[in-house]
Amino acid sequence: MAIDFDVEPEFQEQIDWVENFVLEEIEPLDHFMSAGCDKNGNPLDKDGWDAIRAHITQLKNQVKERGLWGFHLGPDLGGPGLGQVKLCLLNEKLGKTRMGPTLFGCQAPDTGNMELIAHNGTEMQKEKYLQPLLSGEKHSAYSMTEPHAGEPGEFQCSAVRDGDHWILNGEKWFTSNGAGADFLIVMAVTSPDKPLLERASMFIVDRETTGVEIVRNVHTFGTNLKENYNTAPGRGGHAYIRYDNVRIPAENLLGTEGAGFVGSQTRLSGGRVHHAMRAVGVCTKALDMMCERALSRKAKGQLLADLQMVQADIADSYIQLKQFRLHVLYTAWLIDKTGAYTSEIRKEIASIKISAAKVNHDIVYRAIHLHGALGMSNETPLGDMWMSAPQMGIMDGTTEAHKSNLSKLLLRAYEASDDIFPTYHLPKLISKAQDKFQKIIDAY
Ligand SMILES: Cc1cc2nc3c(=O)[nH]c(=O)nc-3n(C[C@H](O)[C@H](O)[C@H](O)COP(=O)(O)OP(=O)(O)OC[C@H]3O[C@@H](n4cnc5c(N)ncnc54)[C@H](O)[C@@H]3O)c2cc1C
Repeated sequence: MAIDFDVEPEFQEQIDWVENFVLEEIEPLDHFMSAGCDKNGNPLDKDGWDAIRAHITQLKNQVKERGLWGFHLGPDLGGPGLGQVKLCLLNEKLGKTRMGPTLFGCQAPDTGNMELIAHNGTEMQKEKYLQPLLSGEKHSAYSMTEPHAGEPGEFQCSAVRDGDHWILNGEKWFTSNGAGADFLIVMAVTSPDKPLLERASMFIVDRETTGVEIVRNVHTFGTNLKENYNTAPGRGGHAYIRYDNVRIPAENLLGTEGAGFVGSQTRLSGGRVHHAMRAVGVCTKALDMMCERALSRKAKGQLLADLQMVQADIADSYIQLKQFRLHVLYTAWLIDKTGAYTSEIRKEIASIKISAAKVNHDIVYRAIHLHGALGMSNETPLGDMWMSAPQMGIMDGTTEAHKSNLSKLLLRAYEASDDIFPTYHLPKLISKAQDKFQKIIDAY
């Protein structure tokens, strides 16, 4: 029997350190950054922001000293090579924060792009683009979705070979961090007549290349629309980008020509597991808040905790969270064991991607509801957490697309019944059993 839910004591120490770092350093930083002002409501001036930036660098140094910088990376890329299960246990802690992944050098979309270049890049690309990403000197974005289509079969942005360059034309949007990136990895159709999986290629495009135009810096709802017109780096957002006759050196083709869609799975599969485990962190925080509130607030002279419908909400949330967490860890364990994204593993990844949105939605909704008006205010982290549920159901592939994929993978293991009645049609089975037992009875 090899099933074991224990964590090695040395690694438990790392988890405990991260948990404490989250509590003492990252959450306060999140709170300060979300206010962005002093106690009198005065916005920070340049010196104030310089001080905060220096403090952030010092926090990153503490993470590096602890050996946890870029903890998603293998030793060949300067990371600790922890494997997916340990990554999950750390991501669970960081999921409770906004700034955590940045302080640990494992923020999306850079993490996925690191994996892409590490797996598909040439030596030149690794040196010029991967190394500065690993050290945190540069930032990147991944530009695949188009304003008119999120479905690869509908993509129009194209690249055409011209001597030792490619000429890129088209529009992309929801390129997270596109405005602040030093370079973008762009998916473009290079062979429109080939089968879907051979139709597109990926290119590394320097952000400053002539013809790369940020049309708007789109934000998710809840952000003032005027922010969409601020395309200065460092504002977050999901850029709407026009590529207008952008000349890309041929050496910036990432992977082989036509392997874009297949190659992109390297980036998306691992990323989905990390997102799922961060969702565990979000939901744990929501459940903790729910329990504290239930024990602190009274209605009609009774604690909320003593009301049966509140109790049912707490119990349902706990069960959903526990099941989800175990499923994510099981998926991570399978990846560690197999070392590849096999169809067996893709089945589990699709499942946890689907659950992440649902579990996040259900638990955070209950927590908001239990907090009443306070839950609806902007004075708790619940509003932010609420946003992650619909996002999770859309980014990195919609829930519907994953459900469709999952059911196809599941159905591969089955065959149609060769009879008009199903295999488990009782009259048929009973008749067979009667034949079998009649023989036993006769022999006796
Ligand atoms: C926060 C966030 C960050 C993102 N970051 C990036 C990024 O960095 N780079 C990037 O390229 N993209 C990014 N995206 C875009 C994301 O990948 C797409 O939104 C996603 O792939 C879905 O595409 P779409 O928005 O065009 O929706 P559509 O494909 O138009 O889907 C709309 C709806 O159609 C239905 N639908 C779609 N497919 C199916 C199906 N197979 N079966 C049944 N119904 C279906 C569903 O109801 C779905 O919700 C981001 C999105 C979000 C929300």
